[in-house]
Amino acid sequence: ENIIEIHKLKKSYDKGKIKALNGIDLEIKKGEFVSIIGPSGSGKSTLLNMLGALDTADEGTINVAGVDLTKSRDLSQFRSKEIGFVFQLHNLIPNLTVLENVQIPMLETHLSSEKREERAMELLKSVQLEDKVNQRPTKLSGGQRQRVAIARALVNHPSIVLADEPTGSLDSKTGDIILDLLKDLHKKENVTLVMVTHEPYVANLAERSITVKDGKIIEEKINT
Ligand code: ADP
Ligand code: ADP
Repeated sequence: ENIIEIHKLKKSYDKGKIKALNGIDLEIKKGEFVSIIGPSGSGKSTLLNMLGALDTADEGTINVAGVDLTKSRDLSQFRSKEIGFVFQLHNLIPNLTVLENVQIPMLETHLSSEKREERAMELLKSVQLEDKVNQRPTKLSGGQRQRVAIARALVNHPSIVLADEPTGSLDSKTGDIILDLLKDLHKKENVTLVMVTHEPYVANLAERSITVKDGKIIEEKINT
């Protein structure tokens, strides 16, 4: 069962001068872990932003979790229900505690504050930060901050987690710990994980790697 279906997707910027995506066809199965790799400027982030409905296509079709993103009018509801985001720079809110940051995606849900806190605590335990829940993000290391961001991305039970260079700002040892954690949580929480990276070694950790160049998919590979 495909959770993502993209057909002939195109996106350009600067009145058509920059062809960021130039005819992308891609299918991703529910529960799959897929990496998107390619040089800087190849269109990786644009593709990820389309999947998360942060940007809209010019041409082609994109269907994510049963929603036709070229037609849907309620993209913010789609995002909060289906998508968890992990960015290179974790985008945590500095004057909220770790526990409060993780609860942000749940504020639009109808859960009671007790249930929200319970779920946030569950995730913070999964990322081994239960002793940091009342700290502010500024007191944490880079790796700890990224673990908070991962907990936040998963807290609403999204069907898809989109990670854009999730280890880009970390040293390699900390990065490895974050990648292990993402892999574990992808299994445990049963989510589809799509990760953008420019490092082959990181891309190979996924079940399948897709290479993008000049806005096109030039290679697909199953990793063993
Ligand atoms: P990657 O993630 O592989 O580095 P991007 O998707 O960020 O590539 O960018 C693809 C191309 O589109 C690049 O040439 C980039 O400069 C351009 N681009 C991306 N976003 C915008 C934007 N908002 N406005 C103009 N050009 C953009
Ligand atoms: P990455 O290399 O991880 O794709 P970038 O620095 O290329 O990150 O892009 C970061 C953000 O800036 C993206 O959201 C992208 O859409 C936007 N962006 C990239 N290139 C341009 C550009 N030439 N003009 C305007 N926005 C851009």
